[in-house]
Amino acid sequence: MSRSGPPGPGAPDPGAPGAVPQLVLAVDPALWFLLSPRHRRPRFGLPVPATDTVGHVVRAVGLPPTEIGPVHLDGRPAGLDRRPTAGVPPGGAAPVLAVGPRPRPQPTRSCPPRFLLDVHLGALARRLRLLGLDAAWEPAAEDAELVARALREGRVLLTQDRGLLHRGAVPEGALVRGRAPEEQLDDVLGRFAPPLAPWTRCPRCGAALVAADPHEVADRVPPRALAAHTAFRRCTGCGQVYWRGAHARRLDALVARARDAARPGNGAGERGAGGPSA
Ligand SMILES: [Zn+2]
Repeated sequence: MSRSGPPGPGAPDPGAPGAVPQLVLAVDPALWFLLSPRHRRPRFGLPVPATDTVGHVVRAVGLPPTEIGPVHLDGRPAGLDRRPTAGVPPGGAAPVLAVGPRPRPQPTRSCPPRFLLDVHLGALARRLRLLGLDAAWEPAAEDAELVARALREGRVLLTQDRGLLHRGAVPEGALVRGRAPEEQLDDVLGRFAPPLAPWTRCPRCGAALVAADPHEVADRVPPRALAAHTAFRRCTGCGQVYWRGAHARRLDALVARARDAARPGNGAGERGAGGPSA
């Protein structure tokens, strides 16, 4: 049955005076896991007021600006402050906004990159430190404090909370993919390809480790370990003493895997499956 007359509220006539112009979004499949299920297709239309910017549009469909790469409007590069439907005449052809994923490896303002992790990523923080990376972790910090510290110290904010990355003030951030800490580590290393320096930082507090003589640490090491080892390291921050103990093989495997994941060009893994939920 066909129907004539004015379209209902769900289907505005694009040619009607005052109608909100349409924009066609073409989002790269690597980013589909961030979209609502009805938008997970090569192209979809969206009414976009002429005053809205590209930044408004990507946020409105669930894409944090930290996760998107090059954006093109009708084939030409466009910035987040561009108004994609400004100047579109009533009934005119809908412009096409193509949104790609953030290229890997991703450059950072601080080099080597310095990270700040949110409350839920403590296990990831310990692994990053084990690999010699500057990874601050504040389990008690409020969102606003995290953003302020990232800005102040030039740190990349790592989180699985999409809402945190939607805050306009986040200077640099990344939505960490993966549920297990090992998957999360692969994701961060693949995304930023940071230089690794294993065994140079304290996994507990992140401060630098220095070599320590056995007699210097004898009061903090069990007698069996003191008898079996000659090389010890002491944390300059919290004083914790480390030696190659029972977990050495597991940690060596972690370092070997990390070196593989951090190799530039190995970051193609835009993992959709297993990604964090909003
Ligand atoms: Zn320490």
